[in-house]
Parts: sequence; C-alpha cells; structure tokens
Amino acid sequence: MKSWGLELSPKSEKPMYSNLVRHVLYPLDRWRSGDAAESRYLREFERTQYLPKEELAELALQRLKRLVDHAFNRCPFYRRQFEAAGIVPSDVRSLDDLRAIPILEKRHIQDYRDEMVAANWPRRDLIPNLTGGSTGTPLSFFLSQDRVWTRKAATWRHNRWAGWEFGDKVGSLWGAARDVPQNGIKQRLRNWFIDRTVALNTAMITERGLRDFHARLTQFRPKILIGYANSLKLLAQYLKSNGLPAHRPHAIVATAEVLEPESRALIEGVFGCRVFNRYGCREVSVIASECAEHRGMHIMAEGLYVEVVCGDRPAQPGEAGEVVVTDLLNLAMPLIRYRIGDRAVPASGACPCGRGLPRIEGLQGRATDFLVGADGRLVSGAALTVVMVAKRPGLGQVQIWQETVGRVLFKIVKRDGNGPTPEDLEFLNAQTRLYLGANVKIEHEFVDALAAEPSGKFLFCRSTAASDFIDLQNRS
Ligand SMILES: [Zn+2]
Repeated sequence: MKSWGLELSPKSEKPMYSNLVRHVLYPLDRWRSGDAAESRYLREFERTQYLPKEELAELALQRLKRLVDHAFNRCPFYRRQFEAAGIVPSDVRSLDDLRAIPILEKRHIQDYRDEMVAANWPRRDLIPNLTGGSTGTPLSFFLSQDRVWTRKAATWRHNRWAGWEFGDKVGSLWGAARDVPQNGIKQRLRNWFIDRTVALNTAMITERGLRDFHARLTQFRPKILIGYANSLKLLAQYLKSNGLPAHRPHAIVATAEVLEPESRALIEGVFGCRVFNRYGCREVSVIASECAEHRGMHIMAEGLYVEVVCGDRPAQPGEAGEVVVTDLLNLAMPLIRYRIGDRAVPASGACPCGRGLPRIEGLQGRATDFLVGADGRLVSGAALTVVMVAKRPGLGQVQIWQETVGRVLFKIVKRDGNGPTPEDLEFLNAQTRLYLGANVKIEHEFVDALAAEPSGKFLFCRSTAASDFIDLQNRS
C-alpha cells in the first residue's frame, strides 16, 4: 500500500471505523441532541460556495437589507446611530450604500451591549459569548442558537476544505477553557467514539506538556491538526530544536492568530503537510479561510459582509486597508460594520478552485501583535521573534512584552546549563534596536515557563502599548 496518509499506514485503523462514525454514530448523536440544523447548514454552504459571485452578492444584499431593517426597528443603539447619520433602512439599496452607516467600534459593544440586543428577542435564545480579551477587557456579546449552528457549519466547511471528514481523528491545540471538552465519563466516551480528538490545552504550555502531546500525537495519529497559529509554531519549534520526528498529518488548520509566512514555512517543514490558514474571531467566527489552492482566503460570504476600507473609501485590489465586518446572520445582537482591528488586502480575479466566494490576502497582524518603537514606528512582534529564533536557536523560547512605547521586556525561559549566552543576549539587543530604533529600552527577565493569555492563546508578543497607540491615532 502507498503511504500517503495515516489511513493507509500500517499502524493506523481501518477506514471502516471512520465510515461507521461518519455515517452512523455521528448522525445518530446529532439526531438525539436535536442539532441536525448544523448539518443542514453545512449542506447549504457547500452548495452556495460554488454560486457565481453575482449571485452571492445578491444573497448578501438581501440578508443585509433584512438585517438593517431589523436593527433599525428592534435595537435602540442602531436606531440612534442611523438617525445621527441621517439614514433610514430604505436608503440601503446596494452593498455600497452600507458605507453610510457609521463604523462600530469595540468600545461601543462595551458601553452599549444591552441596547444592541434586539428588543423582545427570546431570552432563552440569547447565547452568551466572550472574546479572549488579549487587548485588555474581554467583550461580552450574544448569539442566537441559529447563529451558533451556522458558525459551526462554516467551521466544518473549512475543515473539509483541508480534507477532514466526520469521524476523522483530530489533534487540537486549543486553549479557551470553555471550548475544551469536559472530562466527565460521558464526555470521555463521547470523545472516544465520536469526536475523536486529542487536545493540547494551550492555556498552560510547558516543555513537558509539549513532550507529552508529541507522544500522544504519535500514538493517536490524527488526520488533521487544528490549532492557534502560534501554538502550532511553538510545537514545531520544539520538535525541530529537539530533533523529534513529528507525526505527519494529512493537513493542518491554523487559526485565531496571524500566520506569518516564516511560521507557515516552519510548520509545513516540520509536519510535512500543507497549512490551511483560517482567519476569524470570537465575535463572528470564521471570516475567511484558505482552500487547497492557497491563493489568499475565501470570505465566508453567506454569513458575513466583509469590507476592506481606507478611511471612508473601499481599498482597491492589492491595497491594504482595515477589515470591517457585518454579521448577516446574527439577528439576536446585530454587529453592523464592526472594525475588527486587522488589516487585509482585497484579492482580484477568480480562484482556480471554482468557488465564487470573494477573497482577501495579506492579512496583517492584530494591534496586539505590533510593537511600538521609540519614534512611534510599528513593528510586527511575531516577525521579530521569528528572526530571533531562526538566527539564534540558543535563545530558546522568548516572549516580548510591551506596556510602554519605546520600552520592551523579553521573557526568556531558563534552561539548565545551556541557557542563552551573553552573545545570544547581545544579538537579541542588537536586533531589537535595529527593528525598534536605537533609543529603545530593553529589559530581560528569566522565567520558568511562558504564560499564555487567559483564553489560552499564546502570544509571542504581547503589547498593550500598540493598541492604545493605534486607538489614539484613530481618534485624533
Ligand atoms: Zn479557492
């Protein structure tokens, strides 16, 4: 037998069990728990992804008109915003007309959440959710049950682009405690027979945790790895620097964090398979994701209307702008023209995969990924850490913290006997000055382990200075 994937390798199970899960156990479980709606939405999205782009735009326009009308009539916050801008729902006749509606900022959600919830929406259908809060205060918001299902279907659709099928084993690098399966006996049985996931909780990554997870992956042999981009990178770095042979999955889905080209190359090299990048956030779930052509990311256009803007005009193809998202399907608490805080470039032309879903590319880091130099320049912290690791493996694991403009703190993991040498530290200082300016203040702290965010996201660079700095620039 050829060995192109784990299903045909000698140690793996027979495909029959995957089929049993896919066709019998999983549908049975869905039917019993009453949420077959997710599967219906998946079937719908698998059909609509191949619609011509004009038909997808028409679908978005119909959903947008319904949303704007609903928000105006049911949400006091939007009624006020629309009135202040001098518009009524019937003014929105085309997708371009949406630009008359003011941008929604994170601080609006913090201050006016309850006025954004649709009046008289059934309380039992307000599913609470929370962002990770890597920029400070977590945002609290609500989804309808229906939106929970469409979000799940969008995630499944993308997993299938990467080659995953129901019943396939998954290795997950995920940290948000609320998303990690519970450890009760019922849950464990369910996981063993149906969900079939081995997970690394990235909320507490230690060297020992990475070693154990590597052992579990080698034994469990999942078809797909899904995880935060930086956690995948950390695992790849760990395997590479320790010379450990990685389990080779069919594909890897990297999500929730910006995937730098250098990180992608490292992960693909270590695991010997392609990475399918997925861009999303808590508030609206999957925003855009890569197909097998890897030519930018297809927007989840049936559920979201995504604008890339430069000031108050749309960015041209090839030009970077700010990502502004409208959730077309969450009527419980509409998000209209929500500024996520990321930058992207609209792509032009059709994708050879045949999907009509529009694409973006060149996604640039979240505000928190950037460091601010002494002279106000913004530098991608992830890119800087990649330079350090690639050129000075002796530094080991390093995390950059910044709370004040022009000052950075490096947290460096202590290692017995072979920690960073004075030359390593001098290299680190020199590179930092090169990127952030000669006047930058540099501090070092030696720690036992690197801390993850409360959400479990692992940030190589944690800068509160950048978001405050960018926020000020936006307001002034
Ligand atoms: Zn494509």
